[in-house]
Amino acid sequence: MSGIERVNGELLVDGLALSDIAKTHGTPLYVYSRDLLESNWKAFDRAFDAVPHRVCYAVKANSNLAVLSVLAKLGSSFDIVSGGELKRVLAAGAPANRVVFSGVGKTTSEMVEALNANILCFNIESVAEATRLAQVAKAQGKVAPVSFRINPDVDAQTHPYISTGLKENKFGISMEEAREAYRQAQDHPNLSVCGIDCHIGSQLTSVEPYEAAFERMLAMVDQLSEDGITLSHIDFGGGQGIQYDDETPLDIVEFANAAIAAVGSRPLEIWMEPGRAIAGPAGVLVTRVEYLKENSEKAFAVIDGAMNDLIRPALYSAWQPIVPVIEQDRTARVYDVVGPVCESADFLGKDRELAIEAGDYLAVLASGAYAFVMSSNYNTRGRAAEILVSDAQAHVVRQRESVESLFALESTV
Ligand SMILES: *Cc1c(COP(=O)(O)O)cnc(C)c1O
Repeated sequence: MSGIERVNGELLVDGLALSDIAKTHGTPLYVYSRDLLESNWKAFDRAFDAVPHRVCYAVKANSNLAVLSVLAKLGSSFDIVSGGELKRVLAAGAPANRVVFSGVGKTTSEMVEALNANILCFNIESVAEATRLAQVAKAQGKVAPVSFRINPDVDAQTHPYISTGLKENKFGISMEEAREAYRQAQDHPNLSVCGIDCHIGSQLTSVEPYEAAFERMLAMVDQLSEDGITLSHIDFGGGQGIQYDDETPLDIVEFANAAIAAVGSRPLEIWMEPGRAIAGPAGVLVTRVEYLKENSEKAFAVIDGAMNDLIRPALYSAWQPIVPVIEQDRTARVYDVVGPVCESADFLGKDRELAIEAGDYLAVLASGAYAFVMSSNYNTRGRAAEILVSDAQAHVVRQRESVESLFALESTV
């Protein structure tokens, strides 16, 4: 038994009963399936099997060391957005020459760290950043491998907060600017131009916006080639959408075939940076119902999980499935599923039909990405523990935070 499935009314993660894991480790609790992490990564690898390619897992989606090490063992590369993420990837046992450094605001010290670790590529987002990197590389006696992140000005048709490929977004450099930026980089002895990249947004469920981006990117590649600038890779970014509600997830094979067709016979390695599509479906957040209450308007299920554990509903109006861990024969009612935090935005779901009683466990599905990593200590709540199910065992891969640890760095005056 593998993946996250319901058998005889019980939710199982890689064959283990989620209710048993919750009883042993307490709630709120994140539980990840190693099986799903691996099969989701392999789906990308397999889809690009016919061409030279590199799957760079976007670390920010779920940066737990155990998750990173599972993927590192498969041969994954990693897309990072901070010096902290670089340290995580190295701590998880992956070599630095499988690391791509994205992000719009790299600091000098992050550049120094990444240069000295000899990472694979810097994805540069502005001319100012290229200038800074060149200076830093010179001072370090290094040559920095660089790619420019192009903003192809395509509408990813996703939530505005996770749309990144429009001119109005802060990300990347415009097609017009890019040509000159490449020319300057090509001439600098401490920069080595190796690729081109883009990332147009997150949770894309259709291949069309990608195709529009592919076309613009490859037009750019050809233009650069005319300028005498030869690239060795093209990085089509992440953003591949998953199923939360009734949307159809992006078809990875369709994505791959479109990318491969767009590149055609050009001798370019194809890179990609999926995060959500690998980690998202592989995790659940388990919480316990504390109280059921109602007023004249609404019924509420007050749970022990909150917006500090999972902020996606509050931040993006995201909808995630909320289901009982064990299905019971009870009368269903419609509830707002809310946490104990003192904010009206503290809900994990609204108007959910659930057959539950106080004490029941609820699972918020598709919580493997942008979930634990975005959690906070608001209301002095320790962050949830994380479990990875591997080899039919529930491994604690991050302990529940103690309250004392939350103010350990503070002092009184
Ligand atoms: C966040 C991010 C990704 C991953 O996005 P997903 O939607 O999780 O696939 C990839 N590349 C860059 C540059 C990112 O910022």
